[in-house]
Parts: sequence; structure tokens; C-alpha cells
Amino acid sequence: MIVGAGQAGAETAAALRDRGFTGPVTLVGDEPGPPYGRPPLSKDYLTGGVEPGGLALRPPSYYRDHGITLTGRDPAVEIDRDGQRLTLASGRELPYAALVLATGARPRPLPVPGAGLAGVLALRSLEDATAIRDRLADARDVLVIGGGFIGLEVAATARRSGARVTVVEAGPRLMARAVSAPMSAFLAGHHREQGVRVLLGREVTALRGDAAGRCRVAELDGGERVPADLVVAGIGVLPNCSLAAAAGLAVGDGVLVDDRLRTSDRAVYAVGDCARFPSPYAPGRLRLESVRNAVEHARRVAAVLCGDTPPPAAVPWFWSEQYALRLQIAGITQGHDRTAVAGDPAAGRFSVLCFRGERLVGTESVNRPADHMATRRLLESGAPGPAPADAERPGFDLKAFTRSPQPV
Ligand code: FAD
Repeated sequence: MIVGAGQAGAETAAALRDRGFTGPVTLVGDEPGPPYGRPPLSKDYLTGGVEPGGLALRPPSYYRDHGITLTGRDPAVEIDRDGQRLTLASGRELPYAALVLATGARPRPLPVPGAGLAGVLALRSLEDATAIRDRLADARDVLVIGGGFIGLEVAATARRSGARVTVVEAGPRLMARAVSAPMSAFLAGHHREQGVRVLLGREVTALRGDAAGRCRVAELDGGERVPADLVVAGIGVLPNCSLAAAAGLAVGDGVLVDDRLRTSDRAVYAVGDCARFPSPYAPGRLRLESVRNAVEHARRVAAVLCGDTPPPAAVPWFWSEQYALRLQIAGITQGHDRTAVAGDPAAGRFSVLCFRGERLVGTESVNRPADHMATRRLLESGAPGPAPADAERPGFDLKAFTRSPQPV
């Protein structure tokens, strides 16, 4: 039984069948339609480049053909761990032998007066994206609150659609949780070149609407008023772990799991955005919000459920698309204390290598896929990467470095 029919839930069901699991598989969802991918929702979907049918992870016939039962629009509301039964909002009760929680995350609510006005939206689901797309069609002034992955992708898409765009970020730099300072600076410069007004270290204090209750203006700290007929809040997400918490499972910014994705109950597992797990690539437990992580968890949990040895943990990686930039991040770069830039930021093709001490922990690449792949291979192999001093040399080539034999 899998709760949550998003990326991790759907991939878990498919991975179970790929491994030859013949028992019943039920995917309990709360959204309409078959499982879909979220990445296009902040990119091409907003400008009409992708239609809802193009988002499906697999054709609807796949689930039927593989004996996977989909129950949509009926969220799970209670787990009876002693009786191994799940209760849905409709009152339906479903027994389980093993339960996989793949409940994802939800947008952090915007703590600002006026957040409930029409035209103030967050982005997580297809429904959210459709509402933004409808508004974007005639929006002149778009305000993005939060300069993270989703906020910046929405800013880039809105700019491409011709709107005037302002990004307000409370922190001192863009994407501070995800990328290094040099990459933040590059992204801020690039968005500004594309005509986005990027405000750092600033906060929206209130949103004001017209008589019809539609948002028109944002007030910033310091009293500035910014026109805003579409506001997209991208201020992070909260993991959906209330079902797990109510069932007495250990939670703490995510459902806590071990390296086999088992919760504190041996019959219950958690995967994807909702899971906080140990990784060989970073100290402590991590909670990652990425497609790659959802797919990786799905494969691992399917192996565990089938009694097989799970595949070794893959190097975490992420991507984002903004304008013609493809940003790829390999490894967990949080906590790095030194960086080296390879390539040419001015030409829009470069990488930032991130080090903890002398050790390479990850690479952020813009339009340099070879560096991205080389870093993944390097981290996976456990071979020592380049020292910061090597990487700082002009003309340093990470791919060539990884081709020369490295002592393990
Ligand atoms: P989700 O896909 O969120 O699925 C969880 C599902 O569980 C949802 O359908 C939810 O409604 C449902 N659910 C919750 N509670 C219950 C319940 N009680 N009962 C039943 N169902 C429940 N990642 C990348 O790597 N690259 C990108 O470019 C990228 N772009 C993104 C753009 C957007 C707009 C968004 C929102 C995310 C993006 N991501 C991207 C992140 C990626 O989509 C997520 O990491 C991934 O979807 C996580 O999968 P998941 O299954 O854990 O969560």
C-alpha cells in the first residue's frame, strides 16, 4: 500500500512491478488524474508549452496493465498500525502488509496580510499551476516572493511571457539554501539582465487588493509599493508528515527513516520529499526535494520490500531551468567552505566546485553537463577529487581530471 500518488509513490509502484513483485499494489492519492511530474509546472506548462496530458509519468493504461490500483481524490486520514489498516477520508478501510508513505510536501503558507486575495498563489500541484497560467495570460505585473528554485523558475517563465517581474527575497542572496555564493551572484545578475527586478534582503509586509478582492499592490519593508496583479509565493515547503505523526511514528521536519527507508515501525516506510534519511554523501539525516531523490528512494524501497539488497545510494543531483540556463547540481554542497570557479560565467558556461576543507563535495554547473557528470562519477567512485588549488588553476578541466587515474 502506497500513500501519495506523486513522483515517489508512482515510481515505487512501478519499481515493485519491475522487480517482479506479484502481490497487490494500491496507490492512494488525493489529486485527480494519474500521477504526473511537477518540474514542468514552473516552466513550460505556465506558457502553454506543455498540456496536462503531457505531464503524466506513465500512460493511464500502464497502471491497469500492471495491476496497480489507483484511488484518486480520497486522502488517507488515519493509520492503524496495530491492525495494519489505512482509513481514507471517504471512510474506506484498506488493510496493508507494508505501507509506504510518499506524501510529499506542501507550500509554506505566506505569513502576510492579504495572502488570501485573489491572484496570490503558491505552486505545488497541477491545479495551482493552472490557476497561475490562467492569471499569467493577462498579468502585467508579477511579483514573486522568494528567490528559491521555484520562485526563480516562475520569474523566468513570467518574463518570457512578457510580464514585468519583481522578485523579493528576504535573505541576502538568491537560492541561498541550494547554491554557493558565486552561483547566487551569477543568477541575480542573469535575472537582472533579463529585465527582472531582483530585490535582496527585502520583505513583503502586506498585499493590498481592489474592491473586487483582487491583489493589486504589494507593500515592502521601508514603505515601497510595488504593483502586483499576480503574486506567486515560493517561500519553501513543509513535508506532509501529519499522518505519520498522528500514528506515533518518529517525525522531525520529515518522517524519520533509516538507510532502508524504514520508519520507527518496521511495516511502514517513507520515500521522497516527506522522508528524512541518512546519506553517505552528507552528515546527519537529509530531506531532499528532487525528482532524482524520489526515483532513487522508490528503487531502494522496492528492493527492500522484495527482500533484495537495495542498490547503493546514488549521488544526489538536482536541476533547474531558467531562460536558456540549465543549472545542474551534483552532490550535497550545503556546508561547503570553499569554492573554485571553472569556465566562464560571462559566457554563461561555467561550474562552481564546492569543497568542505580539501574535499570536493559537489559541483554546480551552468550549461556544462560534462562537469556535472564528471562530479557524479567522481563522488560515486569515492576517488579523491581535485584539491581546491587544482581547481582554481586557469583552464582547469574536471572531465580531463577524472579521466587521469586517481588513487582510491
Ligand atoms: P509529490 O510529487 O508532491 O507527491 C506527493 C503526493 O502525495 C501528492 O499528490 C499529494 O497530494 C499526496 N498526498 C499527500 N498527503 C496525502 C494523503 N494523506 N493521502 C493521499 N495522498 C496524499 N525537482 C527536480 O529535481 N527538478 C525540477 O526541475 C523540479 N521542478 C519542480 C517544479 C515544481 C513547480 C515543483 C512543485 C516541484 C519541482 N521539483 C523539481 C521537485 C519534485 O517535483 C519533487 O521533489 C517530487 O515531486 C517529489 O515527489 P514526492 O512523490 O515525494 O512528492
